[in-house]
Amino acid sequence: MTINRRISRPIKIGDVTVGGEAPIIVQSMTNTDTRDVMSTINQVKELEDAGCEIVRLAVPDMQASEAIKSIKKGISVPLVADIHFDYRLALESLKAGVDGLRLNPGNISEPEKVKAVVKAAKERDIPIRIGMNAGSMPKKVNPELNTAQQMVAAAMEQIELLESLDFDLIKVSLKAFDVPTTVEAYRDIAGKIPYPLHIGITEAGTPRTGVIRSSVGIGTLLYMGIGDTIRVSLTTHPREEVVAGYEILKSLNLRQHGPVLVSCPTCGRTEVDLVKIATEVENELAKIKKPIKVAVMGCVVNGPGEAKDADVGIACGKGRAVLFKKGEKVRTIEEKDFVKALMAEVEKF
Ligand code: SF4
Repeated sequence: MTINRRISRPIKIGDVTVGGEAPIIVQSMTNTDTRDVMSTINQVKELEDAGCEIVRLAVPDMQASEAIKSIKKGISVPLVADIHFDYRLALESLKAGVDGLRLNPGNISEPEKVKAVVKAAKERDIPIRIGMNAGSMPKKVNPELNTAQQMVAAAMEQIELLESLDFDLIKVSLKAFDVPTTVEAYRDIAGKIPYPLHIGITEAGTPRTGVIRSSVGIGTLLYMGIGDTIRVSLTTHPREEVVAGYEILKSLNLRQHGPVLVSCPTCGRTEVDLVKIATEVENELAKIKKPIKVAVMGCVVNGPGEAKDADVGIACGKGRAVLFKKGEKVRTIEEKDFVKALMAEVEKF
């Protein structure tokens, strides 16, 4: 089954297309001190290696905006400057060669300041994300509206300001911690504007709960066809955000990225330490970039059937396992060789 995506008006962040029929882009944000150029470059490279396609960084002061120039020289992935409160940081980031801006209408709302940023962005063809957050709404929002409606109204006001300046390199996000609020806001604005949408659940939490919250929110929107780029916000190293982002897209068949691991939940039929085996296989698969479906199943009763879609798999019995390739039995392997034999078959693939 394919998902019918909302086709938005594409924009370019550096050489990456966001929107239109382009693949849904996975992005993340550095958590280094942007002024520390080397640490930031190293983390951006680490994110890029994990598959991150756009990296955002915080620009809290002038020194940070000036650092962008040096950071850009050390990386190849497009960079977005995250600006709050001081529009002059946006102007300086543009001068430093940033590929995109994120402005929060909740804290840069004075039209004259926004106009100055839009003028400078327009001169350089640099897109602006209007990034609403439920926790930092403009003061003058209508209190009779619910949170989702308030976010949409505030974003629409900012979009209209940018459009009045003949600027359309726009991307929009409307993030809340609350999943139904986020979904309602995006669903509403998706029908009102042609621009690409950056989707995510803000401050989703630690990996344990944040991945689930993000998956439910981002997954619901993606299944509705909404979303051109995603960020999973997690309280951990940002590399994990990229991994989670791809897992969400892979689970909806929207992107292929590295291996998919199918493993059974174990039950009373399991006669091996399947948790250990599956974890070892998962760690080995993390080193592989190509798409392949691998199955690690706990018994020979249901294992082969449940793993039949996998490219390579094992169905484990007591001390031995049957190795499968494309659903066909290859041979029987000993417990000490489970991971090694499976990975050898994966490598051949
Ligand atoms: Fe149990 Fe076998 Fe199913 Fe695993 S594959 S959960 S061991 S029945």
